[in-house]
Amino acid sequence: MENPNHNDKSRRQFLKSAVLSSVGLATGRIRALSAPLNAAKEPLSLVKQGKSTYSICTSETASPSEKRAAEELQKFLEEMSGARLPIVTDSETPEGDLVLVGNSKLVQQLAPRIPFERLGSEGFALRTAGNRLLIVGGAQRGTMYGVYTFLEKLGCRWYTRDVSVIPKKSTLTVEPLDEIQKPAFEYREPFFREASDKDWAARNKVNGSAMNLDDSTGGKFVYFPFVHTFYLILPPDKYFGDHPEYYALVDGKRRNERAQLCLTNPNVLQLTIKTVLEWIEQHPEASIYSVSQNDCEGWCECDNCMRVEQEEGGAHSGPILRFVNAVAAEVAKQHPEKLIDTLAYWYSEPPPLHARPLPNVRIRLCPIGACEAHAYEICKEDAYFMNHLRAWSKITNQLYIWHYVTNFSHYLLPFPDFDELAADIPLYGKNGVVGIFLEGDYAEGGGGENAELRSYVMARLLWNPRVDVNKIINEFLTTCYGKAARPMRAYFDLLQRQVRPAPQGKGNHMWIYTSPGAPYLSEEFLAQSLKLFHEAETAADDDAAKARVGKARLSIDYVRLMHAKAFEVRAGSYAPANLEQLKESFQSFMKDVRSFGITQLHEGVGLNVDEENFSKFIKPYHVATLENAALRIDVAPELSGRIIRMIDRKTGKDALHRPDPGERLYPDVGGLSVFVYPDYLAARPYEAKWELEPQTGQTELRLTGTFPNGLKAGRVIRLEKDQPVVHTETALENGGASALDVVLQSRFLVGSRSLDWAVLSFRQQNGKAVEQKLIEPGQEPRGSKVYDGLEQPNGEWVFADAGTGEGLVNRFPKDQVSRCFAQWTGKTESAVTMGLWSAKRSLAPGEALKLEADYGIHKAKH
Ligand SMILES: [Zn+2]
Ligand SMILES: [Zn+2]
Repeated sequence: MENPNHNDKSRRQFLKSAVLSSVGLATGRIRALSAPLNAAKEPLSLVKQGKSTYSICTSETASPSEKRAAEELQKFLEEMSGARLPIVTDSETPEGDLVLVGNSKLVQQLAPRIPFERLGSEGFALRTAGNRLLIVGGAQRGTMYGVYTFLEKLGCRWYTRDVSVIPKKSTLTVEPLDEIQKPAFEYREPFFREASDKDWAARNKVNGSAMNLDDSTGGKFVYFPFVHTFYLILPPDKYFGDHPEYYALVDGKRRNERAQLCLTNPNVLQLTIKTVLEWIEQHPEASIYSVSQNDCEGWCECDNCMRVEQEEGGAHSGPILRFVNAVAAEVAKQHPEKLIDTLAYWYSEPPPLHARPLPNVRIRLCPIGACEAHAYEICKEDAYFMNHLRAWSKITNQLYIWHYVTNFSHYLLPFPDFDELAADIPLYGKNGVVGIFLEGDYAEGGGGENAELRSYVMARLLWNPRVDVNKIINEFLTTCYGKAARPMRAYFDLLQRQVRPAPQGKGNHMWIYTSPGAPYLSEEFLAQSLKLFHEAETAADDDAAKARVGKARLSIDYVRLMHAKAFEVRAGSYAPANLEQLKESFQSFMKDVRSFGITQLHEGVGLNVDEENFSKFIKPYHVATLENAALRIDVAPELSGRIIRMIDRKTGKDALHRPDPGERLYPDVGGLSVFVYPDYLAARPYEAKWELEPQTGQTELRLTGTFPNGLKAGRVIRLEKDQPVVHTETALENGGASALDVVLQSRFLVGSRSLDWAVLSFRQQNGKAVEQKLIEPGQEPRGSKVYDGLEQPNGEWVFADAGTGEGLVNRFPKDQVSRCFAQWTGKTESAVTMGLWSAKRSLAPGEALKLEADYGIHKAKH
């Protein structure tokens, strides 16, 4: 498919040639027309003192969106000037002054060589010719977009569903016009609830699949299905029983949940082609059909799939793209106009070495791990993604992007990504991107942080990435906040400065799951913000503006609430510093949230769940403390029996990472604890309840775990004499009547000020010394690793700062451990989970399984 906009250069050339040819072309016909069409630069007097001599003329065969365009033009011109221009059709051979909306017989006579084929379905031309004004474009949506663009030139704006500017002007004069516009991207979707409104979306020229656009607005760019379709194509319920080989082989087993398909199985390909052809029959309205990985890992590790990966340079995208190409090639035989979508997402983000997307394939590349505070080209945390973007853009000029524009764990969290958007939407345009999905807060009630401003700015950028974003933001704030605009702009700038690179700002990074404890949300920032919101509330001159200020302030209230949730150990109890006040603040906050119609604070989680979790988890917990000369540890038996603090008495430092109070299951997270899983890949451990047995001494305590499935566990936690070491010992027994698959996992979450110098070091069972650096320049600052077999640590591994040598050590009996794993993140928090797995066992009634592990302070070498 021709896309002249896939880079700046070709777009500029295209616009230039289009404009030149159309100017030159008109001359031949002009002489033939009776009315003199002066090419002179005379302004056109559309309305004079509330009166107009003009009619709006459409073709008798105008498309639905062209009819809407004529009506919208009539409506807004009347609202502006008081003059109601009649709408006529070309069959009436109208005379006199005309606004020609859409292609028609008259347009053909006047300017027969408007390059419709190049305008495509969404481009348009605006042209004055004598006493005529032409707004003509692609019949699907182009003419309609032309009308809205023309109205914008007269000063109209549609900022939000409720806030528009239609300026009052009794005289409307149109300066000579001769221009052509086409959208920079064929697919444009800001995915916020606020952006799905039909009128708002049409008027702001976005065409996304989730928008409430219909025939009257020229339809939209329809996906079917939208994403993550492998199990829709081959439902495990239907096929797994007879054909486990259709499904991914993961860790030695074919999986029917939380995994993918076997993409080299020929029957899987045939069934997929059949399914996609059925989708096309059943959903002819769709432009694009998604054949895309499920939202998890679990790619197939069978010999054929692994061979393809190797041929494709080790890229997981290799088997995916070969498979999707094979589907697309078959579809093209019957439906050459239909597109096939797939993802370059998570494990499949790097492109394959040899496979190239067929012309009817669209790759949606997802920068899910990128820092969203900074332009991708300047942030070191985004270098990894720039490599992927450039690599994909080398092998396709029809790339799509799935970009993230909210914090999915905290929809209300301040999300200063406006500098980033202003830089990166143009960046995409320069790198062969032709479609962009911007995923935000799409919950039914909407209300995500800055959802309306962001939707508006994104719509502008998606049409033309070279717009002046700062000016757009000013216009928006000025109109939506009235007299409160000045402090609201000051708040906006204050927020952006928390992340803007020095010297303009503080240079903090921000990710889409960043927690409320992030450095850019400092107490100082919150205090300054509250002051500005107070000013804005006082300045707001009407109720609507006041309500908008109140809604925006929820973001600051939310962060303060999360900070106030932090638990502390005090007098044998683990609780927030001021529980009673926190309860009140929480209730009043939730009331405010509901008053704005907001239905979710986190992706996919209703408000009632937040309230249930609050009353379930936010309360005081009993703490048992053990102490020796070197360590003091605090254990909260009710919180999964976990050790919540491990204080080095010499330094006073807690060796464990303090989890962020914004985590959903907080405080039942982090620490040092033991779990029982059915296998190594299960999403959740078996449910358990831990209780403290009467304490036996200052340095040892015992816990009993009971499981609804009949398992029971005894756990000993002991401080070794004078040593900075915690010994843990868990004995699991099947007290039920039937055998159970079990594997014990012991893990702890440790932190460091920064992971930049952090290493995991150990000797493998094969004798080899390993120093695993956690953060590599040019890579995403997170990762995970499993060590098993001969690569497993030989009974001891250390997490340490390579500079100081200080860190933590975990020792274990080799014969009790089958795997070690580590997971780390340097995004906002710097934390590492180090875990041990026992062997996996089918535990018969009465049988037992044991796991011992020591955790200690690792001293710097001298
Ligand atoms: Zn396979
Ligand atoms: Zn950054």
